[in-house]
Amino acid sequence: MRVFKFGGASVNSAAAVRNMTEIVRRSCDGGLLVVVSAMGKTTNRLEQLVPGVRPAKEHPRMMEELRDYHDQMAHELFPDPGHEVFADLRQLFAQLEAATRREPSSYNYDYDQTVCFGELLSTTIISHFLRSAGVPNRWLDIRQVIRTDSNYREGLVDFAATQAAANSAFAALGDGTVVTQGFIAAAADGCTTTLGREGSDYSASILSFCLDAESMTIWKDVPGFLNADPKHFKDTVKIEQIPYNEAIELAYYGASVIHPKTVKPIQNKNIKLHIKSFLNPEAEGSVVGPFDTIRPLTPLYILKNNQTLLSILPKDFSFIAENNLREIFSLLARLNIRVNLMQNSALSFSICIDDNAMLLEQLQQGLSAQFRLRYNRGLQLVTIRYYTQSIIDQIVDGRPIVLQQRSRATAQLLVKPVEN
Ligand code: ASP
Ligand code: MG
Repeated sequence: MRVFKFGGASVNSAAAVRNMTEIVRRSCDGGLLVVVSAMGKTTNRLEQLVPGVRPAKEHPRMMEELRDYHDQMAHELFPDPGHEVFADLRQLFAQLEAATRREPSSYNYDYDQTVCFGELLSTTIISHFLRSAGVPNRWLDIRQVIRTDSNYREGLVDFAATQAAANSAFAALGDGTVVTQGFIAAAADGCTTTLGREGSDYSASILSFCLDAESMTIWKDVPGFLNADPKHFKDTVKIEQIPYNEAIELAYYGASVIHPKTVKPIQNKNIKLHIKSFLNPEAEGSVVGPFDTIRPLTPLYILKNNQTLLSILPKDFSFIAENNLREIFSLLARLNIRVNLMQNSALSFSICIDDNAMLLEQLQQGLSAQFRLRYNRGLQLVTIRYYTQSIIDQIVDGRPIVLQQRSRATAQLLVKPVEN
């Protein structure tokens, strides 16, 4: 049994759905689980429809856009207007409308009850299309399998309950093909939860773990795991082999090719993760697995824009010590703020975080009684694995370095962005 994950870009048009269908057709012998994200930018659109986010008078237009996008795709894929896919889509849109019309309650809960429809819609269209193209398959509502706690928007997976549910849901799978949703799950009470943005990779990895999959493949619009984002770097190098721990480090520093939580479950079962291009499915791609080093060994670059450096100084001129740090970290944890880099000296503590005006203000409010705060916004965090001084000089290119940290393998530099 193998597990394939298709992201939004791989199913964003009728032509893309046809292309993924051929990839599935060529690989479905011997059992295949197909995990799919929402089509194109659907999740971003659904976020705008969460009750309370936008004025209700804007809802009909936004809903129409979403309906047209899916309807048009379905009409291109299914020439027969009486095909049952259309009735299924109507039913899902009726449910989505009901979800968006509810009185706003808690944002995170409302979010999950609304955005889950992206994956329900995409898998409905894809499952029907595969069948009509001669690839028999079963559509599975993954909310019956992946169990989380009730931490909406970032559900914590209960692996024991998920394993038990997977055992019965997939007992009869055999050599068949199953199509299911990434990103979404359910709490013990049955309410829909999600695993965090871009969480479909993680869904595929959880299911690979539970099914003892032979391998997992993520189909992307890049040829594999590159040493830098081709949007920002001209000459990128494809990494052929990546050790599990290296992939975890890279995802942690912000490499966007895989979701940070993806690697652990497959590493625990020694399952290889292939990253391949849906535009060139026969090409080799990259493999994450039980290797000693990356191959080829080359510097890796990760850029994070829109960074804020916040310096925290005790007002009473006390030292930055355990007590102060405890205060600061408990507030960061409460606000769910991730620290991308930190440094402390005797009298100040500095953290680099993603720019977010609302959270920055809440952080300031929470700390202002005891601390003076200074901040610097709009910075760029550059992480280089396997750096040399000349590579650092080249990347920094004379820009002021606001903060830096180096270990044997990794250099992190917080710099002013390039002026245009
Ligand atoms: N559709 C979700 C998102 O866009 C999950 C995913 O694509 O992995 O974040
Ligand atoms: Mg996506």
